[in-house]
Amino acid sequence: MASSGNADFDLYRPSEEHDMLRDSVRSLAEAKIAPFAAEVDEEGRFPQEALDSLVANDLHAVHVPESYGGAGADALATVIVIEEVARVCASSSLIPAVNKLGSLPVILSGSEELKKRYLGPLAKGDAMFSYCLSEPDAGSDAVGMKTKAVRDGDSFVLNGVKRWITNAGVSDYYTVMAVTDPEKRSKGISAFVVEKSDEGVSFGAPEKKLGIKGSPTREVYLDNVRIPADRMIGAEGTGFATAMKTLDHTRITIAAQALGIAQGALDYAKGYVKERKQFGKPIADFQGIQFMLADMAMKISAARALTYQAAAASERGDADLTYQGAAAKCFASDVAMEVTTDAVQLLGGYGYTRDYPVERMMRDAKITQIYEGTNQVQRIVMARNLP
Ligand SMILES: Cc1cc2nc3c(=O)[nH]c(=O)nc-3n(C[C@H](O)[C@H](O)[C@H](O)COP(=O)(O)OP(=O)(O)OC[C@H]3O[C@@H](n4cnc5c(N)ncnc54)[C@H](O)[C@@H]3O)c2cc1C
Repeated sequence: MASSGNADFDLYRPSEEHDMLRDSVRSLAEAKIAPFAAEVDEEGRFPQEALDSLVANDLHAVHVPESYGGAGADALATVIVIEEVARVCASSSLIPAVNKLGSLPVILSGSEELKKRYLGPLAKGDAMFSYCLSEPDAGSDAVGMKTKAVRDGDSFVLNGVKRWITNAGVSDYYTVMAVTDPEKRSKGISAFVVEKSDEGVSFGAPEKKLGIKGSPTREVYLDNVRIPADRMIGAEGTGFATAMKTLDHTRITIAAQALGIAQGALDYAKGYVKERKQFGKPIADFQGIQFMLADMAMKISAARALTYQAAAASERGDADLTYQGAAAKCFASDVAMEVTTDAVQLLGGYGYTRDYPVERMMRDAKITQIYEGTNQVQRIVMARNLP
């Protein structure tokens, strides 16, 4: 597995090890994940086949450090895994992506004991991790959250509702941000690990979504959930800062997902236009079609450069990571929406049906402009952190 051994890896050029990783994930994704992508979307069911094959090949949570039993993949290697899975099935790419999102608070700020307890099962594939920041009335303004954690002796008691939680119900572990001191606003929010098996944890009905239908999105209800105080991640009042620091790194994984979806759509459209004949020749012979393909490829190349550059910044912990992560996510997701829409156009009426995968890709692309902060919020983040 490509690792951070050489933190100076070229900004824009993945190493030979990264290229080998891409080849092997691509083969696996095409053989074991792609065949179920349409069915998973149509039936709105969890992509169990993808989880099984990712776990069997140690690709479900590659970011976990070797010291906790993980593959110890660097940020670029993690991006490549997510990109290649998303190229065939966006829903499945949320397995490695959200395992990183959910567990990164523990990796960044958790005690040694929390790391040992929770990262080992994640690395082995025995448990998945989700991330619980959003609430029904606190989305872009996450500081407005209402979920509370009240200390009671050696425990905290949590009450509240977390909304839009990816992989809720499937994951065993949940990083939950909750208010411990309402007076202090963002500095009064703390982070905790909550387990699915904790008494008082339950889940809402799966949301009926436009895309990523194979990825369960549900509410998480916390009803007098009593957990030991040592499940707090970092010090009291640091939960919001940890949540934001996490997003600096993981927005790059959403950029990777967007990039993969866009590449999948371009690859499919490229093949289609060579086969489809109108006016007595393949439509690929028309310059209008060629220009569309050229624009799609150009935008993907630019998104990839920005995403890989941000991954390198994440790996090194660069000072401008907040800007880089937001820029990569915002740009790559806008590209994914444009490229998938163009791919549908290139297939004409056929592109508008579920008989071809570009319709699913266009629906899947939309979410990348919304979660881990909408693209309006990314622009706010960039404007506040201009390079
Ligand atoms: C499928 C799915 C999966 C998700 N997974 C998770 C998850 O695992 N964990 C989690 O915690 N959350 C998750 N989310 C939540 C997601 O991050 C939020 O939906 C997102 O942050 C937006 O919040 P909101 O939906 O409340 O929209 P709002 O904040 O209500 O925004 C509505 C609109 O107003 C705009 N807006 C808001 N404030 C401003 C402003 N200041 N300036 C300009 N425009 C503004 C927004 O950009 C948007 O266009 C998920 C969401 C979805 C749909």
